[in-house]
Amino acid sequence: MTISKQFEFIGNSIINGWSRPNPINIYPEKSCGIFAEGIEMTYQSGKERFVALKGIDLQISKGVIQLLMGPSGSGKTTLLSILAGILTPTNGKVHLLGKEITKMSRKQLSRFRRDHIGFIFQGFNLFPALTAAENVELALNIKGIKGKIARQQSLELLSQVGLAAKAQLLPRDLSGGQKQRVAIARALAGNPQIIMADEPTADLDSHNGQAVIELLCQLAKEGGTTVVIVTHDPRIKAFADNITFLEDGEIVPGDP
Ligand code: ADP
Ligand code: MG
Repeated sequence: MTISKQFEFIGNSIINGWSRPNPINIYPEKSCGIFAEGIEMTYQSGKERFVALKGIDLQISKGVIQLLMGPSGSGKTTLLSILAGILTPTNGKVHLLGKEITKMSRKQLSRFRRDHIGFIFQGFNLFPALTAAENVELALNIKGIKGKIARQQSLELLSQVGLAAKAQLLPRDLSGGQKQRVAIARALAGNPQIIMADEPTADLDSHNGQAVIELLCQLAKEGGTTVVIVTHDPRIKAFADNITFLEDGEIVPGDP
């Protein structure tokens, strides 16, 4: 066999499964939905320094529903914001969908976030002067979907979350659960591959909280979306594929 044939043989063997290594083990940063390594975060205000994250390593496979749990002040929001590219860590790397976001310019990062990430903020964050439909439409507009198509898609998204009948109402005329459904519809706009949610049930009663999470997880599973949810809510555990616990800025085993 010539040398080039031998290489071809080895290449094909790998492709065809002969001693095929598990790709997750070789290049996790390329194959994971979310890969974070050595994440450290120090907040500085004046002379005060506060170390909020002390070296976090986290791998989340594509299509997985991952919870981040831990006591208040343990660093959950900080970590989620870093994973979403909203905050830049003091040290460490984050890869999303095989791309290192911690290396991107501001412009590249905002485009990447627009195209691939849906974020559900704590406390809904809806525009009070816009109707439910307009809130979702605006998110579609930002993702480059405009005009009549955006209007149509916004109604489709609202009916996916069971809110078609409330599309023309302002946030002040919606209940907490309904507002959170609008926030989910908005996060689903443009069909992102990753959805992140910071305490999505914190402002909801238990019935609405459960319904909202069930819906989010069901939509995510249908779309093969990777979902990261920060929560205190033990009822959400039942929907998760994986749970990571944080305490004092570190990952700890089990439930602290
Ligand atoms: P969690 O979401 O788990 O409650 P956070 O990530 O919000 O925790 O905060 C982790 C720690 O970092 C807390 O002690 C908080 O006070 C501190 N922290 C968060 N944001 C800032 C900031 N902008 N400046 C200084 N300290 C901060
Ligand atoms: Mg928080």
